[in-house]
Amino acid sequence: MARIVAVANQKGGVGKTTTSVNLGACLATLGKQVLLIDIDPQGNTTSGIGIDKADVQACIYDILINDLAAAEVILPTEVENLKIIPATIQLAGAEIELVSSISREVRLRNALQSIRDQFDYIIIDCPPSLGLLTVNALTASDSVLIPIQCEYYALEGLSQLLNTIRLVQKHLNTSLEIEGVLLTMLDARTNLGLQVIEDVKKYFREKVYQTIIPRNVRLSEAPSHGLSIIQYDPRSRGAESYMDLAKEVCGS
Ligand code: ADP
Ligand code: MG
Repeated sequence: MARIVAVANQKGGVGKTTTSVNLGACLATLGKQVLLIDIDPQGNTTSGIGIDKADVQACIYDILINDLAAAEVILPTEVENLKIIPATIQLAGAEIELVSSISREVRLRNALQSIRDQFDYIIIDCPPSLGLLTVNALTASDSVLIPIQCEYYALEGLSQLLNTIRLVQKHLNTSLEIEGVLLTMLDARTNLGLQVIEDVKKYFREKVYQTIIPRNVRLSEAPSHGLSIIQYDPRSRGAESYMDLAKEVCGS
């Protein structure tokens, strides 16, 4: 039975997509069966793992809006053990279309029931908002992984995210947990980054992963080649750090 993890933070550019793709690829490399779900209309996880959006016949939109079975939307990737439910720009309309639909918050959860036993991990890359797409992801998940960029204002906006998590726990998904808080894009040359680490650890304590993702140019280059970091440059510091994170996540 898959552990379902939503990667969420309504701030853009904090490393949600980079983490989804590379944590997914690293878990798959460790032999886990992994499904990535792209629920961001920008579809960066989809293109980042090498899927040409122009070739996508059906996407997460069809699951949420057209009741298509999840199994019919899953695509293979070039990474062994790693599959994906892609997103295209069509998803941009879903947020509004969902508003008036029945069981609008639980559509993803319902859709994943039938495929859950085929995977060890299902990782959902959320959009940079706290709307119905993110609520669907949180409602479908066992836990939420929160990436936080080691920058000024890192903690800003987190109270809204935590509030949304609390509301989902209260009304939609009582067993939702915080999987962990991941510090990303650390520039070890600056004191600022170290200050942010201290602040985040004070706030989230043992929920903060030991692994901290450094700023690494290879991580930012890989998506333009449609490759995870494990394929693009397995010896880079970025690859090493996401492999460390994968081991931490699966407790090995
Ligand atoms: P989000 O999905 O939260 O919007 P992304 O994962 O797309 O964030 O990251 C934002 C930008 O920062 C992207 O261009 C990405 O390639 C880059 N990036 C993410 N993590 C790192 C890192 N550790 N080092 C360098 N660049 C990174
Ligand atoms: Mg993203």
